[in-house]
This record gives sequence, C-alpha cells and structure tokens, in this order.
Amino acid sequence: MGTLPPPTASTARIVVCPSCGGDSVYAPTNAYRPFCSERCKQLDLGAWASEDFRMPAEAPPIDGPYGDPRTEH
Ligand SMILES: [Zn+2]
Repeated sequence: MGTLPPPTASTARIVVCPSCGGDSVYAPTNAYRPFCSERCKQLDLGAWASEDFRMPAEAPPIDGPYGDPRTEH
C-alpha cells in the first residue's frame, strides 16, 4: 500500500518508432512522439523532403534524334 506509480507512468506508453522501429515513449514528456528522438523525427522529415525533390521538377528535356551524328550517316 502506498506504492503508487509515478503519474507519468500512467500516461506514458511505449510505441514503435516509425523511423527506427525502436521503442518510443508516447507521452507528453516526449516532444518528438511518436518518434523516439529528435534525430528520428528529422530523419523522417528528411525522407519526405527527398521524396519531394524526386518530383520531375528538374527532369531532363527529351532529346529527339536530331543532333546525333550517328543518325546522319
Ligand atoms: Zn527512433
């Protein structure tokens, strides 16, 4: 009796970090939830950014056969 767990233990949950797959504390004390750490959150955002950069914004122009010396002979 009298051995109540600390208040944080009742709200804290352990979830799987979406970035590294490790244990992550899902609680108000973890500002990076559901990630386990700031690093994992940054990694996830970075993945999003690189996906964005893969959009065909800088796709090379499609060159026709003109200008290819092999086709002129
Ligand atoms: Zn993680």
